Formats: sequence, C-alpha cells, structure tokens
Amino acid sequence: MQKILITGAAGFLGSHLCDRFINEGFHVIGMDNLITGDLKNIEHLFKLKNFEFYHHDVTKFVHVPGKLDYILHFASPASPIDYLKIPIQTLKVGSLGTHNLLGLAKEKNARILIASTSEVYGDPLVHPQNEDYFGNVNTIGPRGVYDEAKRFQESITMAYHTFHGVETRIVRIFNTYGPRMRLNDGRVVPAFIGQALRGEDLTVFGDGLQTRSFCYVDDLIEGIYRLLFSNYVYPVNIGNPKEITIADFAEEIIKLTGTDQKVIYKPLPVNDPLQRQPDITKAKEILNWQPKIDRADGMKKTLKYFKSLSVEELQKSEHRNFSKK
Ligand code: UDP
Repeated sequence: MQKILITGAAGFLGSHLCDRFINEGFHVIGMDNLITGDLKNIEHLFKLKNFEFYHHDVTKFVHVPGKLDYILHFASPASPIDYLKIPIQTLKVGSLGTHNLLGLAKEKNARILIASTSEVYGDPLVHPQNEDYFGNVNTIGPRGVYDEAKRFQESITMAYHTFHGVETRIVRIFNTYGPRMRLNDGRVVPAFIGQALRGEDLTVFGDGLQTRSFCYVDDLIEGIYRLLFSNYVYPVNIGNPKEITIADFAEEIIKLTGTDQKVIYKPLPVNDPLQRQPDITKAKEILNWQPKIDRADGMKKTLKYFKSLSVEELQKSEHRNFSKK
C-alpha cells in the first residue's frame, strides 16, 4: 500500500486531501499541530485502519517511521486574520517546516508536493496571473509573512530538486472555498455566509471593486491530484478563472441566503490585492485540468455546510481589525 504524509491534515484543504487519498486506497498519515486546524474535519477517518494522525508541529524535526512514498505539505495559516495573530508561526511553517519536510522527502526518497499560493504574485501588476509573473509583494506588509514564506518555500523546493534530485511539485493555489472552511477565519466566503446566517450586515472592505476568482474545493483537489502524478516540476496555477468583484459577490450571497441584510462598507485592509485571476493555460495543457463546478453550485454546497453547524459555532465569528494604519 502506498503511504502518504499530509501536513495540515486537520485544515480545510488538508482534510479534503486526506479524504481523497483514503478513497484512492492510500495509507494516509495526517499531521497537524491544530493551531488553525480542527480535528472535527477528520474525525470520521480515525476509525479507519489506513489512517493515522500525528499531533505534531512540522517546524520541529519530523519523524515518520518506515517507508513513505509521497508528502503533501499543506500546513500553514491561510487567512490574513491569522497572519496577524501568528505571524512568526506563519513564517516558520513555510520556511523551517518546508525544510524539514524536504529533508524527510530526501531521506525517504518520497515525492513531495508543496502548497504555494497566488499570494506569491502579491498585488499583481499583470492580469490574469500566469506562472511566469514574478509578483509584486510588500515584504514588510501584514501579508508579507505569508507571501515571503511561500516564496522562500518555492525557492527551497526547487533547490532540493536541482541540488538533491528530490522529486518535487509546486501548486499555486488561488482562492478556494467549500465545506470545512473555518467560519471564523475572516476570509470572505465564511465571513459573508456567516454574517448572512446570523442576520448581520455583510462587511465589504474598501469600495468592493477588488476582484477575486473562487475555485470550489473539489476542483482544486482534483488539480492537485493530477499535478502530484504528473512529471512537471515547475509551479502550476490551480484556480477558477471566473472573476468577480467583492461587492458583486456580496450581492450573490445575499440572494443565495435570502437574507434581508444589507452591505456595509469598511476600510480596505493594508496591501489587499486589487485583482486576482489565475491564468490556467498550463494546468489545461499539462494536467488536462480545468474547473467543473460553477460558483452557483459550489456556493449552494458551501451554504449547506455552514447551515449544518451548531448555533454556538455560528456565533463564533471574528472580524478583521487591521484596516488602515
Ligand atoms: N473581504 C471583504 N469583507 C470581509 C472579508 C474579506 O470585503 O468580511 C474582502 C477582502 O478585503 C479581499 C477579499 O474579500 O479583498 C478576499 O479576502 P479573503 O480574506 O477571503 O482572501 P484574500 O484573497 O484577500 O487572501
């Protein structure tokens, strides 16, 4: 049986990856320090023989006994609200954590795929963003801890590939949404849906004309799966190119939830990218991948998930308060 280590296993993407690789017949080792992850996301897997969970912080030496065929490094805070609360851990998991996992991959002769991000493009001056764009990142801004950790992560991953011959893959993930997103992580999808369900007004930051392109989680997981088993070592964008302004998105959520709340405007967080849209030419060509689930369907599934949460959980909202200096 093939063995795979998935870091960030209790998180949004990590937990979906655990499900996918269990379903594909792998032995899955999930690893998480549970700072931002939640065991609820994987508790259904604990009864399975081919699932193990290690409560471990990957910025410390990582030991896995026996053979290991694949590693997926998905441990990281992934929300701007988290970067501000735990900036050092955010930097460490992308840098030291990645170093440890690359070392493990080298030792075990395992193939490793690391989760990079559209944030390597920063506030992009090229639109849509293709993989050749070098990005526009403020190293010392509030997002810098995440962006630069991920940029370093890509560099060290390529270095382990070229210098040590480790089999590496790099996915650049664009905004992804779906069940198991943390309701209080401050990101726009859970923020708007949570507000609508609690009967609060929807908080649009800035003038709402900034754009994002939202990919449903199942599409993303499929892209990652294909990338892992491809032969391509350079970064590949995985995301849904369908772009929307945040103000229009708020209207969509109002319609979807049937709430009679309205939109209120709050200051734009520092360095909030103005536009973001993946160019997925490479993913189409190399992986024969493109998203299949449109936003209307994906949002319905996501809403169903958030509606299934308990009232207490729904109340645990959190708002970002790092607007303008
Ligand atoms: N946003 C918003 N209201 C919220 C949360 C987020 O208008 O309550 C905006 C945010 O300023 C950004 C976009 O929605 O322009 C996406 O934010 P998110 O934190 O989801 O991810 P980002 O793409 O910025 O990393």
